[in-house]
Amino acid sequence: MALIDTHAHLSDERYAEDLDEVLLRAREAGLTKIILASAAMDDSRDSIRIAAGKNSAELELWCMVGVHPHDSDKYTDETHDQLRSWLSDRVRNRIVALGEIGLDYFYDLSPRDIQRQVFRRQLDLAFEADIPIVLHERDAVMDTLIILEEYHRAGRLKSVPGVVHCFSGSEEVAEKLLSYGFYLGFDGPVTFKNSKRAPYVISMTPADRLLIETDSPYLTPVPFRGHRNEPCYVKYVLEKMAEIKGVSPEIMAEATMENACRLFGI
Ligand SMILES: [Zn+2]
Ligand SMILES: [Zn+2]
Repeated sequence: MALIDTHAHLSDERYAEDLDEVLLRAREAGLTKIILASAAMDDSRDSIRIAAGKNSAELELWCMVGVHPHDSDKYTDETHDQLRSWLSDRVRNRIVALGEIGLDYFYDLSPRDIQRQVFRRQLDLAFEADIPIVLHERDAVMDTLIILEEYHRAGRLKSVPGVVHCFSGSEEVAEKLLSYGFYLGFDGPVTFKNSKRAPYVISMTPADRLLIETDSPYLTPVPFRGHRNEPCYVKYVLEKMAEIKGVSPEIMAEATMENACRLFGI
């Protein structure tokens, strides 16, 4: 059974001491691919470096680059040009997506109007570079849908725009996003006892649109909740999703691997 973690922040300082062991444990747990997530320019740079430096035939590493809504107020023309330059050399840089981009009104770490502006600028960049996006949305679903609808109508959203990572919305929102061609990514919270909405959304989402991720070092699944997360724990998310879908973990692993390879072209 070959597994993929499509979203892991391995450039996080919490892995500075033992990244090699983390990667080894991932391999031992059956992972053959990991996509490194990025949230700011410095960790985009680190993700590129790690993906290139630690990639191996047994455990392929890929990455995304982009600016998270939290850091929107640091996005300058220079940032935009640097992202564009990385994307223009995406094969060498092992970049398969632009992300995390989107809106986060829960923490409001950047002013909302700036968040929307930077989200739009990166959507333009993704369209221009013809690359999938990794969308982060928290407590900002209305504005996210308004902007996506605007891009969709203008023909500036790819027919398969990317993945809505760590999806936690309602089934109506899921339907809307699926209709735009998005994949939905799920993480550790699906294993929590109080998880009610996610199982319903997973059961209604077509199996060829589901992705499995960890969002390491965050969102650690049961039974390791409370500890630092790492890619080897992706199997707990996988097992839970297989149970919800009523299929074996092997079938779920195969489907989510195929989905990730199709979406990210890996
Ligand atoms: Zn996120
Ligand atoms: Zn993340």
